[in-house]
Amino acid sequence: MAGGELVINLEALQSNYRRLAEAAPTAATAAVVKADAYGLGVDVVVPALLSAGCDTFFVAMLHEALAVRALAPEARIFVLNGLFGNDTAQTFVEAQLIPVLNTARDVAVWEAHGRAGGEPLPCALHVDTGMNRLGMNLEQAVALARENALTRALNIVLVMSHLACADLPEHPHNAHQAKCFALLRDAFPGVEASLANTSGILLGQAYHLSLTRPGIGLYGGVVLPGLVLEPVVTLTARILQLRDAAAGEAVSYGAATRLRRYSRLAVVAIGYADGFPRASSGSGVPLRELQPIGGYGFLHGHAVPILGRVTMDLTIFDVTDLAADLVRENDMIELIGPNIRLGDLAEASGTIGYEILTRLGRRFHRRVLGAV
Ligand SMILES: *Cc1c(COP(=O)(O)O)cnc(C)c1O
Repeated sequence: MAGGELVINLEALQSNYRRLAEAAPTAATAAVVKADAYGLGVDVVVPALLSAGCDTFFVAMLHEALAVRALAPEARIFVLNGLFGNDTAQTFVEAQLIPVLNTARDVAVWEAHGRAGGEPLPCALHVDTGMNRLGMNLEQAVALARENALTRALNIVLVMSHLACADLPEHPHNAHQAKCFALLRDAFPGVEASLANTSGILLGQAYHLSLTRPGIGLYGGVVLPGLVLEPVVTLTARILQLRDAAAGEAVSYGAATRLRRYSRLAVVAIGYADGFPRASSGSGVPLRELQPIGGYGFLHGHAVPILGRVTMDLTIFDVTDLAADLVRENDMIELIGPNIRLGDLAEASGTIGYEILTRLGRRFHRRVLGAV
């Protein structure tokens, strides 16, 4: 009944996990499964990663952590966004979740909760080393290390930071952040340390430390030099109607696209309500200033361009260059997969693969390849 099909290849996911683990052999490899495993679904992703040997997960939100706990009773689960106020500490304790403490306030709440229960509670500390996103600054963290050495109010099991430019290996900010992080590790001797996301793993062993935290690489959403990762997601959608249109006719909303030639058009059951980006709208559309070329689909061995505006439930592709008897109504067109890389769709849409994956909607038929 669905217009599109999202196929999730768990063997590719598991193979990506192993390759990322092999790329950092001296560290343990966690999996970042926030935002419902980047939109792929924790219900299928977490069991597959467990059976590939992963025992540590990171999520952003407490409710995400509870969903992972239900699937992984024994795993270590870190919650990146911290405690969210005063009222959640007991939920963390009951589900044995480890909050990543980002603020002095997080620290105070977690210390108090431990004191009330009679023992210091496990936690991670997030220190900002040059991104000005979440985390304490280095001075705060070093002061906390001194204080905690006396009070032992916190059981700090991990210190972590996040790289701003890991995908730009030559960027001097990487070495700067690594240097700040080394000062932090000196303040917490013997504590597990984590700095690298997916692209951080490729920066080399100095960035691996005790634990790496790949996300997007698991899902095959990046192309990395020297590390072959497999695409995990294939998205196809159905051609509902084929139509012939004369030169000069208009296509889609705004009548902004005028056909320059006689054209054969395929109207496909996918649109921005499915998370297919409106910004991937094709030729003739006045949205295309930064990136003049729009997105493509792939059909019977050919790349076919999007024509006119992507609409809520429908997108139009130009199939004029395919032999007329090749294309049929009901055929499925590939939108993400082996022939149309996620990164290409992202580039055509002025965004990144992360955003496309995490927004892919819930209207697709989901099919899982590979047993857990
Ligand atoms: C999302 C996230 C990751 C994973 O990053 P990828 O680039 O997807 O590998 C790691 N660490 C933190 C703190 C994150 O927010």
